[in-house]
Amino acid sequence: MKILVLSDIHSNITALESVLADAGEFDGTWCLGDIVGYGPDPNECIQKLLTLPHLECVLGNHDAAALGAIPIDNFNHDARMSILWLRSKITTDSREYLSSLLYQVVLENVYLVHGSPRSPLWEYILDRYTAMENFEYFQTKACFVGHTHMPAAYEEWNYNNVDGDHVTFKINRPDEFFQIATKTIINPGSVGQPRDHDYRASYAIYDTDALTWTVG
Ligand code: ZN
Repeated sequence: MKILVLSDIHSNITALESVLADAGEFDGTWCLGDIVGYGPDPNECIQKLLTLPHLECVLGNHDAAALGAIPIDNFNHDARMSILWLRSKITTDSREYLSSLLYQVVLENVYLVHGSPRSPLWEYILDRYTAMENFEYFQTKACFVGHTHMPAAYEEWNYNNVDGDHVTFKINRPDEFFQIATKTIINPGSVGQPRDHDYRASYAIYDTDALTWTVG
């Protein structure tokens, strides 16, 4: 099955529609949180997501803040301002959908979470050391994370039979095939607010049969 993997849409319907146009046909949709926050179209993004096939989605920190489920003191000034605006804009239907989301979803052989398995809403996996510390917090072969807005893959190799004794880091270039061979933490980058010095929306396709990953 071909799965479209999205993260950090951040209320940007233009970016979401561009990604859907670029991705072509797919069989399932995984969304790694932060559907809302920052951008102008929170309700439109939720409505569009709900039309996609076999949607599995986890809660992000901006989604939780929109619901008032977490305090906003930990957010920077711009994020706090956008959350206050968002709370006044979000519809009852959108609020209900966000309220239904969990911090993590475990599917066959994969684990979906926004930040990290150890700290689902807040931790950024931006380096090999943080990745290494997180491998013991999930038992599936692959773990999909968002939150950093940077496409990346971290692989765990056990040369000395010690958990996490060697972790490699890869930045996936668009259209490059990445084979999932060992326990791996992967990030598709951000749809609505890229922070990888590439202004284009980022997403990924995961092939559940071939165990391959391609950033689009
Ligand atoms: Zn985000």
